[in-house]
Amino acid sequence: MPALEFTRRYAMAHRLLATKSAKCAIPHGHNEFVTVRLDPTSRFTFSDTNSVAPFEQVKKRWHDWIDNAVDHTLHLAETDPLIGYFREHEPKQLAQIMTFQGDPTTEALAACFFLKLSAFVADDGLPFTVSEIRIEETPTNTVIVTRESFDPASCGLRANAWPWRADMSINDF
Ligand SMILES: [Zn+2]
Repeated sequence: MPALEFTRRYAMAHRLLATKSAKCAIPHGHNEFVTVRLDPTSRFTFSDTNSVAPFEQVKKRWHDWIDNAVDHTLHLAETDPLIGYFREHEPKQLAQIMTFQGDPTTEALAACFFLKLSAFVADDGLPFTVSEIRIEETPTNTVIVTRESFDPASCGLRANAWPWRADMSINDF
């Protein structure tokens, strides 16, 4: 079967504290594009439909999550004191905070996307594996995570963290 690729746009904000960049320590936003590539787990054979049947299914679930859970979120490290502010003063906004083990860099986001999409694909029992996640952070800056460069089994993320779960979660509050 052929590989599949699809792209979605979303707005986000983040700030990086551990990175020690004065410019990135203040909350700021990006309009990003995420492109995912799925490889089939079986070879193409001619049939009546000649199409990868679950394509629309996997695309819809992914785009629902991007549109309804990821778009317009604030990405923070779990240790960021801003989380304490929101807990105390604006608890409703916690639903729009995506949490990260360490700084919420684009590299970390791409790895989390890789895990989340893999969880969706496995949950639906679809005949694909995630082969690549590409995030265009700005028109001149793209981060790419591939199956060759990223190993979920040794990535160091806590076993119960949200990226592993095949649900709409973006944090562990
Ligand atoms: Zn940034």
